[in-house]
Amino acid sequence: KDSINILGVRIDCVNFKKAKEKCLEFLNSSSPHIVFTPNVEMIMLAQKDERFKKILNSSDLNVPDGIGVVWASKYFGEKLYERVTGFDLMMALMPELERQQKRVFLLGAKPSVAEKAKENLLKIFKNLSICGTHHGYFSQEENEKVIELIKSSKADVVFVAMGMKKQEEWIYKNKKKLNCKLIMGVGGSFDVLSG
Ligand code: UDP
Repeated sequence: KDSINILGVRIDCVNFKKAKEKCLEFLNSSSPHIVFTPNVEMIMLAQKDERFKKILNSSDLNVPDGIGVVWASKYFGEKLYERVTGFDLMMALMPELERQQKRVFLLGAKPSVAEKAKENLLKIFKNLSICGTHHGYFSQEENEKVIELIKSSKADVVFVAMGMKKQEEWIYKNKKKLNCKLIMGVGGSFDVLSG
């Protein structure tokens, strides 16, 4: 089985290695692909929010983020073997993004956090091409400006760290406007990276 359904949310049966391979395929494809990282909290939220459930199921890859999802999988068909967190997956992609000279945009977290995350990433991945950053507290009116910024940065990858639901909704709404290959929701990852 390629995926299982946990309370109406599709989770793809991928281990960490397979998830990474899929992301790298997306990266070199010709259209935008979305990766979400559903955890138990998100699946519970989807129970009372049909639109959020629909958005989660619209992704190209849903990795099991959290041991709760891995445990639950036992009761919903196929057993998943390991958790794949957004943070770990993002970090595992970095060396490859660096090697392939892909352009990375960091969107989300409080002002200055994404910039600090960029600085710290560049300490580890010296030749990584981080083509832009922007905080995750902008209004609907400012959205077009943010889209333009990402478009003009010619990003191949956008990591979106605006917290669950908000980031998935934003990605769903704007993916076609971005002209990039991989868009991934990564929750509080920039806070971790900036620390
Ligand atoms: N965040 C954001 N815009 C918002 C709300 C939150 O950029 O409107 C950021 C917040 O600064 C934090 C990240 O989203 O860096 C994740 O928040 P949280 O720890 O609540 O993550 P979750 O568990 O909801 O994914």
